[in-house]
Amino acid sequence: MYLSVIVPCFNEEEVIVETYRRLTQVVQSQGWRYELVFINDGSRDKTLTLLKQLAVQDPRVRVLSFSRNFGHQPAVSAGIRYCSGNIAIIIDADLQDPPELFPAMVDLYQKEQANVVYAVRKERKGESFFKLWSARTFYRLINSLSEVPLPLDTGDFRLIDAKVIREFKKLQERNKYIRGLISWMGFKQVPIEYSRDERFAGATKYPLSKMLKFAQTGLLYFSKKPLTVALSLGFISILVGLGLAIWVFASSVLRPESLVPGWASTVIMVIFFGGIQLLTIGVLGEYIGSIFDELKKRPEFIVSESINFDENVQ
Ligand code: UDP
Ligand code: MG
Repeated sequence: MYLSVIVPCFNEEEVIVETYRRLTQVVQSQGWRYELVFINDGSRDKTLTLLKQLAVQDPRVRVLSFSRNFGHQPAVSAGIRYCSGNIAIIIDADLQDPPELFPAMVDLYQKEQANVVYAVRKERKGESFFKLWSARTFYRLINSLSEVPLPLDTGDFRLIDAKVIREFKKLQERNKYIRGLISWMGFKQVPIEYSRDERFAGATKYPLSKMLKFAQTGLLYFSKKPLTVALSLGFISILVGLGLAIWVFASSVLRPESLVPGWASTVIMVIFFGGIQLLTIGVLGEYIGSIFDELKKRPEFIVSESINFDENVQ
């Protein structure tokens, strides 16, 4: 067994050395063969300098550094693409996911002959009410919309085996919603429960804008239902419009005196149906935008430097 630990890092100078220490402690106590793959996602603080220092002392520390901030998912994707283990564990740099769970994950992988062991958060400590609520709602929403069943309350903290790594490398899409793609692959996937700790230090690197982009990729790439909803809205508004037309016609025949100039209702209708139209055009636009993104076939990330890799990674 050769384990690759994949750690995406963006401005993590406050935690990275401690993360290295905790990871090393766990994997060495198990006597595993391992490498620690840190991806520096365009950090603007001392993260890269610290990683370089670690890499000088310890050849099992491998560092991939991006040319700018590409985002958490591209960082994980690069880790999977360039790791050399026959199993890999993806973990956040901030120690919210405890490395001490590794032995239990590997145990389960061996006992159940599983291809994926995904960690399910049964408790989350030290996170804001908004984060808890939005995450909870998002995972339920995407699961109900998605054509592939996606496990609830599960992040990217998971163990994947050689088959999953191999299949992952074949995926062509540029915007990856990794937890969804791995579920989509099938194979044998087993859950393991854990309690998510507080961030060891520093603040979240996922502001609302990044959370929204992430949620959007998840929804657009895993479901066409928003388009179906847009279509149904169109049908409903046509039916409402027809109903109103019949009503107006009937009243003009039966009670012509009742037809006072109804400007208010007209304006309300115009605004209401105008809104539905804009909404459905917007949904369409988002899908077209994603097609445009994929069509350009730009790389998911650009590596500016790689350290302690056997070959030069580009
Ligand atoms: N991260 C990254 N690039 C980004 C944002 C985040 O590589 O643009 C990394 C970050 O360093 C951490 C992981 O993704 O290892 C999860 O981020 P964070 O802990 O800030 O998110 P939260 O737990 O608050 O959702
Ligand atoms: Mg975190």
